[in-house]
Amino acid sequence: IKWTEGRGWHDAQLVPYAPLSIDPANMTLHYAQEIFEGLKAYRGPDGSVATFRPEANAERFQKSARRLAMPELPIETFIAACDALVQQDKAWVPAHGGEASLYLRPFMIATEVGLGVKPANEYLFIVIASPAGAYFSGGVKPVSVWLSENYVRAVPGGMGFAKTGGNYAASLLAQAEAAEKGCDQVVWLDALEHRWVEEMGGMNLYFVYGDKIVTPELTGSLLAGITRDSLLTVAKDLGFESAEGRISTEDWKRDTENGTLTEVFACGTAAVITPVGSVKSAGADWTQGDGTPGEVTLKLRKALLDIQTGAAEDTHGWMHPLG
Ligand code: PMP
Repeated sequence: IKWTEGRGWHDAQLVPYAPLSIDPANMTLHYAQEIFEGLKAYRGPDGSVATFRPEANAERFQKSARRLAMPELPIETFIAACDALVQQDKAWVPAHGGEASLYLRPFMIATEVGLGVKPANEYLFIVIASPAGAYFSGGVKPVSVWLSENYVRAVPGGMGFAKTGGNYAASLLAQAEAAEKGCDQVVWLDALEHRWVEEMGGMNLYFVYGDKIVTPELTGSLLAGITRDSLLTVAKDLGFESAEGRISTEDWKRDTENGTLTEVFACGTAAVITPVGSVKSAGADWTQGDGTPGEVTLKLRKALLDIQTGAAEDTHGWMHPLG
């Protein structure tokens, strides 16, 4: 779907996957006017297909667009575009039973040609799809994390809450540092004090204190994950308390050592929930619990996945059925 200044959204098309032809002076190549989303279509036990909370992705896409001075795509247009692609590619939605899905990647780029820094007068919204296998082969495996003190992902007033390519470009060196330290993932801290836990590379974090789960509050510099939001509700369904709060790296270490912080996990569209098994930082290293996936982590993971795959009743109206 194209957007042109003065004309708005026009020319929606469903076309076979093919390369784009880009002018070397295309503004996106120089000034990173790009935003994107990620969501999944699952097949239910009766063979029908549904996407998970596409309106939440559409709303977040609008927020990202506003921050990058891009035009907002109407929620119903975003959903209709995803629906049209899933209908076309329905045969690619894997069978019910595992964790496999059809992953959808909606995105928007500026298409204006010119080297001036300004909001563009032309944009293109595209959705592509790819089958995605189960994130873990051979059982859920805890990840090790590196607390990043040398790099920050986002600053107050910046673009941290937006899902835009630049945030991920800024993360690559920190992710390489985490790998150098022998860790799977980087954990971002706040930009001002390097003390408050924000999120993991491509996932939000949750801290399990017995029967209460706490996730870092939305400060504006972390992404408002749809999995994170869903788990605030799913946890309550299962009889847990859930809350947003502030967790410092000192709290994390101290509460792990005194046994009150029983489990930590990360959550996002790709893996649903990933347990955190060990933590490394410039100052100290520690193991989370006994380093194996925690009971609460696995219980929440199953409850959410069951809703997404149609194995459990969708009591919150989160699934968007496509027949
Ligand atoms: N934080 C970041 C930086 C991410 O890229 C993602 C993945 N979209 C998340 C959190 C989790 O968000 P969601 O649950 O919507 O996938």
